Amino acid sequence: MIKLVLLDVDGTLTDPGRLISTRAVVAIRKAQKDGIIVSLASGNVVPVMYGIKTFVGVKAPVFAENGGAMFQNDEISTFFPMDMPKKLFDRLESEGKLKGILSNRWRLTSMAYVLSGASPEEITAEAHKDGLVTVNSGYSWHLLNKGQDKGFALEKLKEAYSLDYDEILVMGDAYNDAAMFKENVIKVVPSNAEDSLKSMADHILKEKDGNGVAEILKKIRSF
Ligand code: CA
Repeated sequence: MIKLVLLDVDGTLTDPGRLISTRAVVAIRKAQKDGIIVSLASGNVVPVMYGIKTFVGVKAPVFAENGGAMFQNDEISTFFPMDMPKKLFDRLESEGKLKGILSNRWRLTSMAYVLSGASPEEITAEAHKDGLVTVNSGYSWHLLNKGQDKGFALEKLKEAYSLDYDEILVMGDAYNDAAMFKENVIKVVPSNAEDSLKSMADHILKEKDGNGVAEILKKIRSF
């Protein structure tokens, strides 16, 4: 029985124009009324996750920066340091190898970038030298601490709610969701997901992005 649903945001709750699916919002509220725990994990920043959580009405903790930070009960928790990602980002930016994105001003544990003058492999190799990792969310690249991924967020929720893996359903559309696609969790993708993630999924939904969220939540509630 599914007790917790962990959703990605961009491309899962939102469409390619980044509009939130109103069907998904309604479905999340209904699922929570039925006692299903719903949480969000995104590469986006705490202020954005604060807004989505508040205005959609998500009750469980939500995760920003690919699991690096959590927001709940008017408190922000950070689980990874900022010093190394920031230091490497600043150096690579000054060398003209990447460019930051607007949301970096609100980041607490990682930096986001778009490529500029260097290949993704080159940036990733530089990151590895400093014990860091990179991941592409499909919207931007992220420079992260080792172990900082959506799988970390999943473990935090599993522990907080004393759940087994098979009581958790995860849904995402891009490669930065792969870390939460763990062996015994129920893995779901919307029809717009990247092929690499589709190949890891237990269920490929008929609907795209947020309408897919509504589709799977309806299915869970009918069990
Ligand atoms: Ca996504």
